[in-house]
Amino acid sequence: MGPAGSADKGQTAAAYLRHLVRALVLLAALLGSAALSRADAPLGASGYKMAGDATKMRIVLNFDREPDIKWFLLRGPNRLVVDLPRTRFALDAKELKPRGLVRAVRYGDQGEGSRLILTGKGPFAVDKLDVLKNDDGNGYRIAIDMSAASEREFDEALANQSLTTGSTVSTDKGERVGTGPVSAPGHRFTIVIDPGHGGVDGGAESSGGTIEKNVTLAFATELRDKLASVGKYDVFMTRDTDEYLTLDDRVRIARQHEADLLISIHADTIAVKGLRGATVYTLSDKASDPEAQALADRENLSDQFAGMKIKNDDKEVTDILIDLIRRETHNFSMSFAHTLVGQLSTNVGLINNPQRSAGFRVLKAPDVPSVLVELGYLSNAKDEAQLLNADWRGKAAQSITNAVALFASAKTGTATGG
Ligand code: ZN
Repeated sequence: MGPAGSADKGQTAAAYLRHLVRALVLLAALLGSAALSRADAPLGASGYKMAGDATKMRIVLNFDREPDIKWFLLRGPNRLVVDLPRTRFALDAKELKPRGLVRAVRYGDQGEGSRLILTGKGPFAVDKLDVLKNDDGNGYRIAIDMSAASEREFDEALANQSLTTGSTVSTDKGERVGTGPVSAPGHRFTIVIDPGHGGVDGGAESSGGTIEKNVTLAFATELRDKLASVGKYDVFMTRDTDEYLTLDDRVRIARQHEADLLISIHADTIAVKGLRGATVYTLSDKASDPEAQALADRENLSDQFAGMKIKNDDKEVTDILIDLIRRETHNFSMSFAHTLVGQLSTNVGLINNPQRSAGFRVLKAPDVPSVLVELGYLSNAKDEAQLLNADWRGKAAQSITNAVALFASAKTGTATGG
């Protein structure tokens, strides 16, 4: 048994080794083919999310491994196209519904690879597009920051783009923000007039049945014609029909026109019956007085007609450049409000302390000087009669036009070169 036993043992050991080698070869083959099929397998994309409003959006899409991407812009309509390797999308249709600055999200196969296409609500800028490793170690994500921009800015980006990859493009964006305030050559002083409310949102209503949205539209139209007849300005309205717009849609329109001034027109009601006269509001975190606060709260409710939740934690970008621009914009807004109050006082009755401030969402564009004019109160019979009187409206519109002229000449005189 002894020698035979040891021979047996030798044989067993050899057989064991053979099995081991075979198993290892098999394993290697399996691993190899697994690696091969993984490289071949489509990229997995999931967890599409977008947040923000019509002025600023963030879009995130997750991938099971690092995606090799290229992105570029297309116009007519304004689109952002992200080219991906072949990708299997597992996206929640609910998350793809249009919102804010994004009018449509589409994805699918395109030639050898796949494609994600975001269609903007008008022109936009891609402030940032990064491929990032997820913190939990599970895969990667694309993070896109976009903001409402003018057609000119979009065209400029379009002209500058040679097929760009996600990693190189986000570097020059600080410059873009920095050059923001410099107007295009040939840019005329541009005013966007915003008739408050509209569509399902009627605004305030007088006891006699006068509805604010109609008063604001009639006045804005008159003001537009007066300003246009000066011949030196480009003048736009956020709406010229009875249509509903969210507050950030109004801001978006002002930015997309590269407005030098946004004038939002209102005619509200107030519980204090005797109170009458016009008021000029600018944006501030802290309201100048309780009435201003109450008015801003009510105006900001306008977005509820679109079924939107009012966000209290409006986390704006705290970029230093944007902060500087915002501060400069604020100074311009204050200066225009001051000029406007002066001009209105000669033709139009004003309330006590007619220059006030509060957190109006429609005034929040960081780069567009903005004021909100309460022409008068529909809760006051005398104010209502004035608002319905063509002569009075003509005089009020003329006062605003005079104020715009003073502001425009001061601004174009001092702000050249940004
Ligand atoms: Zn209003």
